[in-house]
Amino acid sequence: MATTKNGLAPTEVKEELLRKYPPKVARKRAKQIMINEAQQAETPEITANVRTIPGIITMRGCTYAGCKGVILGPTRDIVNITHGPIGCGFYSWLTRRNQTDASAPGAENYMTYCFSTDMQDQDIIFGGEKKLEAAIEEAYEIFHPKAIAIFATCPVGLIGDDIHAVARKMKAKFGDCNVFAFSCEGYKGVSQSAGHHIANNQIFRHVVGENDADKPGEYRINLLGEYNIGGDGFEIDRILKKCGITNNATFSGNSTYDQFASAHKADLNAVMCHRSINYVADMLETKYGIPWIKVNFIGAASTAKSLRKIAQYFGDRSLIDRVEEVIAEEMPAVEAVAADVRTRTEGKTAMLFVGGSRAHHYQDLFAEMGMQTISAGYEFAHRDDYEGRHVIPELKVDADSRNIEELEVEADPTRFAPRKSPEELKKLEEAGFKFKHYDGLVPDMDKGTLVVDDLNQYEAEKLVELLRPDIFCAGIKEKFSIQKLGIPMKQLHSYDSGGPYAGFQGAVNFYKEIDRLVNSKVWGYMKAPWQEHPELSAAYVWE
Ligand code: SF4
Repeated sequence: MATTKNGLAPTEVKEELLRKYPPKVARKRAKQIMINEAQQAETPEITANVRTIPGIITMRGCTYAGCKGVILGPTRDIVNITHGPIGCGFYSWLTRRNQTDASAPGAENYMTYCFSTDMQDQDIIFGGEKKLEAAIEEAYEIFHPKAIAIFATCPVGLIGDDIHAVARKMKAKFGDCNVFAFSCEGYKGVSQSAGHHIANNQIFRHVVGENDADKPGEYRINLLGEYNIGGDGFEIDRILKKCGITNNATFSGNSTYDQFASAHKADLNAVMCHRSINYVADMLETKYGIPWIKVNFIGAASTAKSLRKIAQYFGDRSLIDRVEEVIAEEMPAVEAVAADVRTRTEGKTAMLFVGGSRAHHYQDLFAEMGMQTISAGYEFAHRDDYEGRHVIPELKVDADSRNIEELEVEADPTRFAPRKSPEELKKLEEAGFKFKHYDGLVPDMDKGTLVVDDLNQYEAEKLVELLRPDIFCAGIKEKFSIQKLGIPMKQLHSYDSGGPYAGFQGAVNFYKEIDRLVNSKVWGYMKAPWQEHPELSAAYVWE
């Protein structure tokens, strides 16, 4: 049995994590904490996408946050109105540092605004539909946007405002503005994952396919599940452009309404974050015949691999050669920094607890620095994100997942056009190409590492205390409690104030940032001198 660096066996670490829980809670959590004993074809099972046990301080966000904050938050020319109390809108307002480029003449950018109906007590009692109508009208009068999206928060679902009826009415009234709504009340699912699904459904239903105009570019792809945090999307776009690949639409970093509306014009969907967007990839394939592949632009080697995969799909010699030229041009600078940094980072350890795919993707960057990920997990993933898509047929449909609509999609009678013939697909598969495929996080992690789903505040601190990683990566809620334990903490939802970390230049930024964090002496001074060596002592007078 493998042991951790402090000599504890992984089973002992797991027991320690569970020791303080009441028996029923410990039994439930035990199923979400897995010691990775994955060996090739054999992957152990983990419980995921289940409700957080009440009383536990989870790292998760709500369904509304997943819909409005994650998926629609990064898009710049849709007016996103939160129907609810002001706190929900404020909470989801650009906290992920999504960047956008609205420098083109006439480009609109509403991302800097926080639109909310600011519901008050009387709206909860008498209903908020009139207030919502007035807010939509006001936004239309001021901005004349292409589209207005409405997001339901918890109280809206509880009082039963019909946001979809309001959206239909206003869309008909304006005539030149697409108005649609999302029933993404915070309580709707077990985490923000439900919000991603609801967002994907409504964007597909109301926007995708709205613009049939032909798009320029020879090798047209959609990049799905890339949110342009800290400028990641800009770096990926730079590389794609250099290779001669056209990014037709990103879902949804640096995106526009028109990109969503034209998504059916691409010839390949490249999926970054599997969890948040695989629904759109599947629906685009069924309705329009566009195949999808999993890619990863986090990590220099992964970026090169993903570019080669895209070039192989199109199969054009000039593209394949151009991709090789770009990789050869970009890699030397990356390798030089990696070699330098590695002298100081080799052998150090990391823990990653983020999102649906980041806890997986970032392991590649750490590996390039000679660092090992000793524990990782997702906030809101499903089993297929851990174990691979082959488990999808085994996934149980429970009351929570049944709560989220599954769109029934069929081939479009006029616009369905398979991008590859069955023979071409077969040939690519015979050459090792995998469509609609994702192996998940678990097979890529070392034996004896700990995979923890929906890690909470208590377990995070306990893990750090037991395993003392050199760096811990999660979100803002964990940042300061971890740093107080003397361990550097890097936010991988918002990147603190850093980034981009995607692509080749992003890898260089990340190496330098992690080198600075794990080798800083400041973490050794987290205890004040008088806490470690008290100079004064005292006794009660009666002692
Ligand atoms: S849980 Fe409900 S009240 Fe809280 S932010 Fe989400 S939608 Fe708003």
